[in-house]
Amino acid sequence: MKAINFVVVGYGGMGSYHVAELMPAEQDKIQVIGTFDIKTERQQAAAAQGLKAYASFEAVLQDPQVEAILIATPNDAHKDLAVAALKAGKHVISEKPVAMNVAELDEILAVAQAHERVFMVHQNRRWDPDFLIIRDLYQKRQIGELFQIESRVHGANGIPGDWRHLKAQGGGMLLDWGVHLFDQILWLVDSPIKEIHTDLSYVLGDEVDDGFFTSILFENGLRALIEVGTTNYTQLPRWYVKGYEGTAKIDDWDLSGEIIRATGNTAAQAPVPIQAGVGLTKTMAPPSEEAMERIAFPEAKAEYPSFYGNFYQVVRENAEPLIKNSEVRKVLQVMEDILNQG
Ligand code: NAD
Repeated sequence: MKAINFVVVGYGGMGSYHVAELMPAEQDKIQVIGTFDIKTERQQAAAAQGLKAYASFEAVLQDPQVEAILIATPNDAHKDLAVAALKAGKHVISEKPVAMNVAELDEILAVAQAHERVFMVHQNRRWDPDFLIIRDLYQKRQIGELFQIESRVHGANGIPGDWRHLKAQGGGMLLDWGVHLFDQILWLVDSPIKEIHTDLSYVLGDEVDDGFFTSILFENGLRALIEVGTTNYTQLPRWYVKGYEGTAKIDDWDLSGEIIRATGNTAAQAPVPIQAGVGLTKTMAPPSEEAMERIAFPEAKAEYPSFYGNFYQVVRENAEPLIKNSEVRKVLQVMEDILNQG
């Protein structure tokens, strides 16, 4: 079957990453034929790379060669571009966050359904190796059932770029990294949310949040802590998870960290009290060697196709989308509720 011809709308940081890194991985299935960007220099960059730089978005929609578009513009433009492209009979991939609010998403989905076109959102961090390890621990219970998952990303560079500082363009870190971290947790944990509490951070004085801290209690008893920070000059681990039979920590993207499983052999040797500050403690002393074992990290491999591989299957073979729009909607609803609470 023939490859799907794509045009990338918004050829900035992420649009060019799709063209350079993601689409070539599925080159027999996905073909990029051109771009459209409102900035002349981005159009020139595309042309210099041998891509067709379309003169307008309308020109993209009118070209029968174009079967699908990728939307990689600032967040406030996603909805109108998606609706127009779907009405013109194109399939659409949108970057995250899919839209500014759930009402916008519902409008897109209604148009996609009416025109029988595929609409998928690039919530790509379901393929992150660190997440795949945590998913394996959650599903296969190497350290027992997990009852606490802490997921963090910490940077020290503030809110990046220009439009990400602006509310009207869907700026702020909740709508940025928040999408990924909520998507991972809500996709992983198959239980309704019982309670959720969020503190948004405005340390940098922007009109949008520069980070946040969320605590979610699921009905099955699992607690998830999700934190995004852009004022962190030293970082906490990317993941810290506790199971009934052990603890795991992934420090960073390089997958450094450790998984410690309790052997249950606490009788062999009791923990030895340690000096702690100006006091003595046995409670906080490390467990004895007999009481714990280090286990290897599970293989960080997705047992499902790549994002573009799945998109191709959805379009050509009527396969199930890996990222379902109902899941995208759930993530967006949680974020909208948080922002509405202030
Ligand atoms: P960016 O500012 O680098 O690029 C955006 C580009 O869109 C710019 O070149 C701009 O000129 C262009 N543009 C703006 N309005 C347009 C319009 N109406 N039509 C055509 N072009 C338009 O931003 P970015 O970092 O590439 O982010 C773009 C999108 O990708 C955002 O939605 C962001 O959340 C998402 N993103 C996703 C990931 C991920 O991992 N999934 C990572 C980074 C960014």
